[in-house]
Amino acid sequence: MTHLTLQAVTKRFGAAHAVDNVDLAIPEGKLVCFLGPSGCGKTTLLRMIAGLEQPTSGAVMFAGRDITHLSANRRDFGMVFQSLALFPHMTVAENIAYPLKLRKTGKSEQARRVAELLELIQLPHMAGRAVTQLSGGQRQRVAIARAIATSPKLLLLDEPLSALDAKLREAMQIEIRLLQQRLGITTIMVTHDQREAMTMADLIVVMEKGRIAQVGKPLDIYRDPVSEFVADFIGLGNILPVTNDESGKVRLPGGQQIVVANAAPMSVASGDIRLLIRPEDVHLQLGADQAAHDTNCVRGTVRFIRDVGASLEATIECAGFTLTAATTPREVPGLAPGVPVLAGLPAHACKLISAHGVRASA
Ligand code: ATP
Repeated sequence: MTHLTLQAVTKRFGAAHAVDNVDLAIPEGKLVCFLGPSGCGKTTLLRMIAGLEQPTSGAVMFAGRDITHLSANRRDFGMVFQSLALFPHMTVAENIAYPLKLRKTGKSEQARRVAELLELIQLPHMAGRAVTQLSGGQRQRVAIARAIATSPKLLLLDEPLSALDAKLREAMQIEIRLLQQRLGITTIMVTHDQREAMTMADLIVVMEKGRIAQVGKPLDIYRDPVSEFVADFIGLGNILPVTNDESGKVRLPGGQQIVVANAAPMSVASGDIRLLIRPEDVHLQLGADQAAHDTNCVRGTVRFIRDVGASLEATIECAGFTLTAATTPREVPGLAPGVPVLAGLPAHACKLISAHGVRASA
């Protein structure tokens, strides 16, 4: 069921379109990530949903009701921002109770709800502690508990994890996701970290220059990006400019012909065709005897190896282009800089995409 709908929402600051004609449907109970580079309009879009910013045009509908001009405090949405904005002079329990107090919830009900939320965020023993004496991850949990204290219908998170170090950030991603699933609360999160979006989201909305570039499930977007921008933003990818040859075949930058499984999108001009192959789909073999191998094999030389133990990433210099291949040290023993290799590009994993993309609607 659709919970929140954005209809042709636009926000201009002077002449600049921060958000440009966005149509989007957010399904109930799901976690949706707004993902995109800095300045693409993610935060402005979230702020319009929150009621902190008014759209220049368009409508925000929630549960069938037009809330475009409803003030933020009457929307009943929970929010957590990058800064967290916890009250430093209050204890953990006082912070969590704050929105309940504003609603004039009775004292005993406040205490019951705070105890319940402290259990939920696994900090029951820290009720009386000053928030200034908590770790980053604990503060994060308190901010979330405060945001959901009044059981809001929608939870809005604006880069809530960006102040945390990498390890804690990854742990909190899982924690928030599990909590969101347990509560079934519809959640929208802004992030510029594609890995974070892939880890947490049911649905990713990729934004580019104020517009929606693509909406889809994380793996669908990873496997089937609509444009070079989306392919490049979601995960590592080899994106090569190719030219259309006879049907089902393209020429790589060095001139070699390879077979591809899908045809180039119809509307794409020939100079705008890109071949996408993900590093994990490039199959490396030592040696340079191409004759013994199929046509979708290119010759190259290892230029650089990033070996982090569990996985290995090799940069391969080929005629006219560079490839990145992901493998493991055990899979291809003997890989080293300067070694000649054959890189297999399986036809089914070679996807033709447009350099510019076709605008997607939700
Ligand atoms: P970031 O990840 O850096 O926060 P973002 O994708 O959230 O970026 P927004 O903050 O929504 O992007 O900004 C979108 C565009 O609108 C940017 O060009 C920004 O400079 C502009 N913008 C945002 N808020 C204002 C404002 N209050 N006044 C003028 N321009 C603004």
